[in-house]
Amino acid sequence: MKKLRSPCRHPDITLPDMSVEFSVLHAALDRAVSYRGRVTDTPCGPVRNYREMLEVFSEPLPEAGSEDVDVLNDLADRGEQGLNPMTHPMFFGWVLGGSAPAGVAADWLCSAWGQNAAFHASSPTSAAIESVASTWLLDLLGLPADAAVGFVTGATVGNFTALAAARGAVLRQIGWDPDNDGLFGAPPITVFVGDDAHTSVFSALGYLGLGRRRVKRVETDGQGRMDAVGLARQIRNHRGAAIVVAQAGQINTGAFDPFSELQEIAGEKNAWLHVDGAFGLWARAHPHYRHLTKGVECADSWAVDGHKWLQTPFDCGYAIVRDKNSLERAMSVDASYLPSGDNNDRIPCFLVPELSRRARGLPTWAMLKTLGKRGVEEIIARHCGIARQIADRLQQATGVRIVNDVVLNQVIVSFGEPGLDLPERNRLTEAVIETLRSEGSIFVGGARWREEWVMRISVICNATMPADADLVADVILDAWKAVSGSQE
Ligand SMILES: *Cc1c(COP(=O)(O)O)cnc(C)c1O
Repeated sequence: MKKLRSPCRHPDITLPDMSVEFSVLHAALDRAVSYRGRVTDTPCGPVRNYREMLEVFSEPLPEAGSEDVDVLNDLADRGEQGLNPMTHPMFFGWVLGGSAPAGVAADWLCSAWGQNAAFHASSPTSAAIESVASTWLLDLLGLPADAAVGFVTGATVGNFTALAAARGAVLRQIGWDPDNDGLFGAPPITVFVGDDAHTSVFSALGYLGLGRRRVKRVETDGQGRMDAVGLARQIRNHRGAAIVVAQAGQINTGAFDPFSELQEIAGEKNAWLHVDGAFGLWARAHPHYRHLTKGVECADSWAVDGHKWLQTPFDCGYAIVRDKNSLERAMSVDASYLPSGDNNDRIPCFLVPELSRRARGLPTWAMLKTLGKRGVEEIIARHCGIARQIADRLQQATGVRIVNDVVLNQVIVSFGEPGLDLPERNRLTEAVIETLRSEGSIFVGGARWREEWVMRISVICNATMPADADLVADVILDAWKAVSGSQE
């Protein structure tokens, strides 16, 4: 490797001393460390709601500026009141990761370095780290080593990006180039989606001009898994371009589609198989859970999140596409001052929708290097074990029912004797959630599953430990006792 250049200054240029003061960065560090250290001292939920926070922050745009340190401290003083403690070990709301310190620190550097990570000439470090992180991700997730990985903001944009590649590929097969000629006058694409797909898939299809409603919905089983026989029946008489969207990790149940069967059916029709694996694809990182994803490696593209199970800070996700060329054709940008993509170099902006972008690969690289394969395995096994333990405890109590097969990290629960009518059971379940929210020891979500309102417990924050599992079950059972007791 060549020697690094030494600084060379023109004798007539006097540059300011840049080393003087970065006290605002130190202040941010202090406030961040202080907040993270105190996160378990307050109730597990926001202290103030959105309306209150609007009042807290409402003021006219100031005419004159202020000291940056004062602004930072003011932001922290006021802002902390309306934070949801997503890094708290007892936070089980939605499916969110816990922003582990190693990833947060790398993310700070990513901003502090002031890099626009659009292409490799603009930021060699950023592009090189993304290239290495991409190889590591494919290894860990057991996906084809030559697949392309775009570092995006999350699984929603991951789905969008991968499906854009799919749209181009399936139409070019039949002689139409939508990336250049658009969709007006194009042959139709039929999209087959499981009935329990994540809502972001429909958003992505909408952005792509494929329509949220225009899809063929394929029936699912009691856990939300796409029915392969149903897909085979719907696709049987299909002609022309087709995309099948499968799922690894249903948002409520954690269930996995039968990928091998879906791949076979899709393959017969030359359909593109895309997999939304926002959190579930991480099951591949653990030998005991990998079987859940059997066959998923045969798909054409995948979307997965870094900010869920890998615990990077928000926002971080990956669009992974087997055929790099399809992805580049869908995403590439062209200008004289930009590089051309005619060699095998990694040009980050050719793989994602953004041109100017932060170096999203840095937190991923830092998390993977900090955890190693063993560390990722440990998180997956720990969270799945805790989910199992909570479910086992809860299902022993009367009037408590575990609604899903707990195969991963998701537990959904309903409350009330089975003899009660549905609205009454829904009311009891909501009352338990409300009781837990106002009590503030743990944070759980509510969701609709089939006709039922359920409590959703997502075990996915890196701070959550096995010793917490019994406590979580106790707290939930106490809330259920309070709710059911007040009925009598
Ligand atoms: C979270 C999630 C998404 C959306 O991911 P974002 O990171 O929020 O954009 C999509 N699909 C599934 C299955 C998810 O769990």
